[in-house]
Amino acid sequence: VHLADFHPVAMMSRPVAGIRHKSVIVTLPGSPKGAKENLQSIIKTLPHACVQVAGADSRALHSGGMKKLEAEAGFSTGSNGSTPSIIQPQHDHGHHHHHHDHAAPVRHSGPGAGLNPLSNDPSLGPSRRHRESPYPMISVQEALGLIREQTPAPVVVSSTVNGALVGSVLAEDVKSPEDVPAFRASIVDGYAVVVPSGKNLAGKYPVVSISHASPQREAKQLREKEISRITTGAPLPPGATSVVMVEDTILSARNADGEELEVEILAENVKEGENIREIGSDVAKGAVVLRKGESISAVGGELGLLASVGIRNVLVYRRPIVGVLSTGDELVEKDESVKLQYGAVRDTNRPTLISAARHWGFNAIDLGIARDKQDTLETTMRDALKMADVVITSGGVSMGELDLLKPTIERALGGTIHFGRVAMKPGKPTTFATVSIKSEAGDRVTKTVFSLPGNPASALVTFHLFVLPSLQQMSGQKSPGLPRVPAVLAHDFQVDRKRPEYHRAIVEVNEQGILSASSTGGQRSSKVGSLRGANALLALPSGDIPLKQGTKVNALLLSNLVALD
Ligand code: AMP
Ligand code: MG
Repeated sequence: VHLADFHPVAMMSRPVAGIRHKSVIVTLPGSPKGAKENLQSIIKTLPHACVQVAGADSRALHSGGMKKLEAEAGFSTGSNGSTPSIIQPQHDHGHHHHHHDHAAPVRHSGPGAGLNPLSNDPSLGPSRRHRESPYPMISVQEALGLIREQTPAPVVVSSTVNGALVGSVLAEDVKSPEDVPAFRASIVDGYAVVVPSGKNLAGKYPVVSISHASPQREAKQLREKEISRITTGAPLPPGATSVVMVEDTILSARNADGEELEVEILAENVKEGENIREIGSDVAKGAVVLRKGESISAVGGELGLLASVGIRNVLVYRRPIVGVLSTGDELVEKDESVKLQYGAVRDTNRPTLISAARHWGFNAIDLGIARDKQDTLETTMRDALKMADVVITSGGVSMGELDLLKPTIERALGGTIHFGRVAMKPGKPTTFATVSIKSEAGDRVTKTVFSLPGNPASALVTFHLFVLPSLQQMSGQKSPGLPRVPAVLAHDFQVDRKRPEYHRAIVEVNEQGILSASSTGGQRSSKVGSLRGANALLALPSGDIPLKQGTKVNALLLSNLVALD
């Protein structure tokens, strides 16, 4: 049984229990799933109850009032080491097998059930915290579904057309206000001519005017038997019906200053309309040049298109402003130059997450480091929620007593935690919440909070898996999330028994034109280096046996493919 099966409605049919003589009677709901879930939530306390009902001296069992309460609630008291052994959770014989990550957390007991749907009350101290996360473990797909549902709708804004527009998605069809070209223009360097109807143009003609590519007063009318020298892109003189390339002509007379007087046209079959870009032939006035939903890329020419037709403002979806906060008493600035104090850790997540957010086109605000104190964390979070649309925190979501993010979001900020645990590796404690705050204008707005695990590799993996799609959805992007491509394993990969893994990998095109994936090495979640050089996250399913070389898996692309040399 996995907590992934947990459903909030299970609450509706909580077990009823009682005692008759020396028997404990427990009623469970009728559905197999409900029965399992309910049994799971009381199983830890059952041995204790049975011992008591069987007539054990309860005074011996409970040396203190508080401990009695805790025991009845199914908590084991870790503080004084005198935990009655009968309330220890059952030993899980299916141990995790950490084939490749010897420093992964070692757990000896199986997962129990959530007992309290709310986060820890930090004022109660470490002995009263949950010893098992009260948040149901949900799948990555479920987590993504909740994020999709809770992400605020895109907001339309008018934006000036300039480089800052790159990465934005259009919120309107953009129509050209002008014809391009706005005048009949020559496609070549040569001579503008008036093709005599039904006759061959070949012959010698006087050069009566010159048209260069520049803004100019309209030239005088060109008549038959006259030609006008013209450059590429220059406007045709009125009356001209075709342009002959300079290559199809020879100079036949020039004046004392070396100016062209007469040119012979050698071309035989000149027709009307040759080498001319007609008005509006590139873009007609009123034509849709870009559609709603299209992105303005840095390389796709969209900016050029807007510039060419003279559009100065467009409606786009506003890209959210992302605030990045690190949390932890141990953290020091990455630039700290003196030898680190024992226990200190350089803040790795903030620079990494800020650069990742910016790389994907979002404006990121550096919110600094918050200490593990409830009140400072609360004030910092309140300020953060005012400044940013999306707050990304890292650290403080594990099971330690100083892991204050969840309690702060729920208890102090009145936010809603949509999930607090995801069945994945790395990133299990990833937390997603929404908080409603009063905007400057006085109305209530919903902000999203992603509380990512503190371990640097986990933080960066979960940013890409969960935060990025939400940011992209808020910006109106059509298919949010990392692009997914099939890849073939270049070697055997160990897998986790229980949790799907997002393995940092290098995906390259092999000689057969197939995407081939190799591991970046040690995947321990504290190891930032596991992302060095990685251009993909391989979605590896959980399982009991390693995946063989040649197995096809999904690769989520973080950046460009590695090409053949
Ligand atoms: P926590 O969830 O706060 O218990 O953090 C889990 C692990 O991640 C601990 O080893 C922390 O020291 C580490 N950690 C948390 N935040 C950061 C950070 N910003 N940079 C580097 N390591 C961190
Ligand atoms: Mg911490």
